Amino acid sequence: MESPKFSPDLVAPCGMNCGVCKAYLAYSRGVPNKRGSVTHCQGCLPRNKNCFIKRGCPKLSKNTIRFCYECENMPCSNLDRVDRRYRKRYGASLVGNLREIEESGVDSFLKKQTVKYRCPECGDVLSIHDGKCYVCGQTPEQRQTR
Ligand SMILES: [Zn+2]
Repeated sequence: MESPKFSPDLVAPCGMNCGVCKAYLAYSRGVPNKRGSVTHCQGCLPRNKNCFIKRGCPKLSKNTIRFCYECENMPCSNLDRVDRRYRKRYGASLVGNLREIEESGVDSFLKKQTVKYRCPECGDVLSIHDGKCYVCGQTPEQRQTR
């Protein structure tokens, strides 16, 4: 089964691939939002989200750079804070993503993301945040008991 392709438009300036975010997956896979039970998001760039990293950065707010790696001060304290949280909680580094994009390009980065977050059950995408597949419902617990 062919995995869905990630789009470069869904890679945020901080190195986050919104394609593996649970709010994007809930939105794009049509998970119903009953009484605000799940967050729906179209991705940071498509919805022009003004996150604290962007707000705190003159280059990002004026769109003079596309990715944080283009900045000589990377990582700034804001990016460093998120990066630490992602490394600790989700086993992924946003700064690591950015270095990968800088070295091999966004397409190669996204190809690796497809492999890394592929659902073993249906071939869709596992969320970086909860390890769940929003198409077939596969959970990390189910994978452990195999
Ligand atoms: Zn699945």
